[in-house]
Amino acid sequence: MSIAYLSLGSNMGDRGANLRFALKSLYERDGIQPLRGSAIYETSAWGPVKQDNFLNACIELETSLPPDELLTVCQEIELAAGRTREVRWGPRTLDIDILLYDDISVATPRLTIPHPRMKDRMFVLVPLMELEETVPVLGSLADLLESLPPQGLIVRTDEQWQD
Ligand code: ATP
Ligand code: CA
Ligand code: CA
Repeated sequence: MSIAYLSLGSNMGDRGANLRFALKSLYERDGIQPLRGSAIYETSAWGPVKQDNFLNACIELETSLPPDELLTVCQEIELAAGRTREVRWGPRTLDIDILLYDDISVATPRLTIPHPRMKDRMFVLVPLMELEETVPVLGSLADLLESLPPQGLIVRTDEQWQD
């Protein structure tokens, strides 16, 4: 069994329901056992496209799936949540990124682990810090956070993982 961390995000439709759908869908898959979830945060959109705030969270899971199969599952769940791909970094009902998978590094055309932009993103580091202090390859999450410039809104919500 391996341990992986995912980043979940939504800024279209019922954002909380979309994150709950993602967790429930992961539970229902063979070879995936979600272990812990961070709180759910409201965050300013990152990147060049002006768009609505996101809800973001991180989850830890145990899995028997290799990284590429885990990515396929994540993409299937995104599609089932109505994800369409229009603009890069544009609005979406559900985004699931693989942040970390044990202590391995992956660099294929389809998959890079650790996620190459996670270290630049408060909306990833802040929820992930609830689950781990340090992570493979990247080290101390607090040190990474301290090195970042301000990135707008990031607040813990009382949105729950269960309805
Ligand atoms: P970003 O990757 O900057 O967060 P994004 O999540 O909006 O942007 P997507 O359109 O969801 O980007 O994904 C583009 C491609 O990224 C996917 O088709 C997938 O093959 C690839 N990818 C590479 N590494 C990862 C990873 N660690 N987790 C998820 N997708 C990845
Ligand atoms: Ca993403
Ligand atoms: Ca993605």
